[in-house]
Amino acid sequence: MMQHQDKDHAQLAERFNIDEPRVDWHDKTLWFIREKRDKAAWLIPEWEQLREAASQIKNNVLSNLHDYLIQFEKNAQQNGIIVHWASNAEEHNKIVHSILRQHNVSRVVKSKSMLTEECHLNEYLGEKGIDVVDTDLGERIVQLAGEPPSHIVLPCIHWKKEEIGEVFHQHLGTPKVNADPQFLTAAAREHLRQRFLTSPAAITGVNFGVAETGEIVVCTNEGNADLGVQLADVHIACMGIEKLIPQRKHLGIFLRLLARSATGQPITTYSSHFQKPRDGQAMHIVLVDNGRSERLGSNDFRNALKCIRCGACMNTCPVYRRSGGHSYQYAIAGPIGAILAPGIDMSKHADLPFASTLCGSCTNVCPVKIDIHDQLFKWRQVLVKNGHTTTSKKAGMNVMTTVLSNPGIYKFSGALGRWLMKRFPSLVNNRLNPWYKQREMPVPPEQSFHSWYKKNRR
Ligand code: SF4
Repeated sequence: MMQHQDKDHAQLAERFNIDEPRVDWHDKTLWFIREKRDKAAWLIPEWEQLREAASQIKNNVLSNLHDYLIQFEKNAQQNGIIVHWASNAEEHNKIVHSILRQHNVSRVVKSKSMLTEECHLNEYLGEKGIDVVDTDLGERIVQLAGEPPSHIVLPCIHWKKEEIGEVFHQHLGTPKVNADPQFLTAAAREHLRQRFLTSPAAITGVNFGVAETGEIVVCTNEGNADLGVQLADVHIACMGIEKLIPQRKHLGIFLRLLARSATGQPITTYSSHFQKPRDGQAMHIVLVDNGRSERLGSNDFRNALKCIRCGACMNTCPVYRRSGGHSYQYAIAGPIGAILAPGIDMSKHADLPFASTLCGSCTNVCPVKIDIHDQLFKWRQVLVKNGHTTTSKKAGMNVMTTVLSNPGIYKFSGALGRWLMKRFPSLVNNRLNPWYKQREMPVPPEQSFHSWYKKNRR
C-alpha cells in the first residue's frame, strides 16, 4: 500500500488539491452519487424505519456476537464449509496462504474485499510467489497502476478515463489513444476472462454472514465474485467477525439499504448466496478479528462495527470529496476510516479524526445510524489525552482553554483581535497563517455580539 508516513492527512490533501480540475470533478462526481442516494432513499416512505431496524439488528448482533459466531460456525460446518479463526491480519494472511499451499495454488482471482485490503493480503501472497488478480474492474485498474483503492465502493474514482486508457495501454497492450470507457471495459473483460479460466482458487469478501443458515452473501455489480467462485476448485471467503446478521429474513432490510446508500441503485446487480461448496469444491471461511473485539468492548466506539461498507459517508463528506481517499493512508478512507483506523493503530492514524468539519452529514446518511461525527469528536479527546497531538496544537488548545474559561480575558482578547485585524490586517492575512492560505479572513465586526446584545435587547 502506498504510504507517506512522513506526511499527514492535511499535507496529502494539499498535494491532491494542486490539481484543481481533478478536485472539482472528484467533488462533483461524489456529490452526484450522494444526490442519487437521496433520490433513491426518498422513494421509499419507510426509509427511516429501515435505518432504525438495521441499526437495532446490528445492536443485537454486537451484544450477542459470541453466540451468533458460534451458531454461524456450527451451521457453516454442517454445510461442509471449513471455518478458520484469525485474531489479526497476520494470522489471516497465513491461513489464506496455507490453504492455497495445501491445494498447490499459485494463481488466484479475488473479488472486492476491504478486509483483505486491511490485512494487505495481496502484498503478503505476492511475496510468497502467489499471483493475485483483483477482478472488480475498478480494483483491477488501481492494481495495475500499483495503487490501493481510494474509495471502498468506487476504487478508482480519482482517475480520469484518459489515465485509465494509458494504464491499459501499458499493461494490457490496448491502443495508446483509446480511452473510450466501453472499449476499455471490453478489454478488461477479455483480460480477466483468461484469469478466471486459469485460476484454481477464488477469494471473495463477505457482505453478510447469516448465523441461522451458515451462508454468506456477496454483493457485486459485475458478477465477478460468482464467476470466480463457480470456476474455481477452492473458494476462500474472508470475513470480519462483525459481518453477521441473525437470520436470512433480515437480509431484505440490509440489501435495500446497502445499494441505495452506496450508488442510489435499488439493488446490487448480483446478491449471491454461498451456502455450501459445489461438488468437488473446497470452501473455506476465514473469520477475522483484527482489533474488532477490542472495539466491541468500548462503549464510545463499538457502534463503528455496524458498518456495512456502503461508502455513503465518504460521498457526502466535504473533506473526503476534496482531499481524495489516498490522503487517509488506510484501507478504508473517509469518515468511517477516520474512526476505524485509530482503533487499529492510534499513533499512526492520529491525524484522521481531525480530518473532519464535524458537520454531521456522515451520520445523517449512514444506513445503520452510526454516530460517526460524535465518534470523531470522541477520538479527538482520546488522542489528546494520550499525547497524540502536535506541540503547537497542544499550546493553542491551552491558550484557548484559558481564554474561553475566563470572561474578562475573553472580552479583552476579542477587542484586541478586532482592533489588530482592522489596523494591521497583515498580522493575520499572511502565509504563516494556514487558515489564510485557502481563504479570505472575515472582516472584523465593529463590536462584539455581547455589546450589540446589551444595546439592542428590549
Ligand atoms: S459508516 Fe455508515 S455510511 Fe459509512 S460506509 Fe459504513 S455504513 Fe456506509
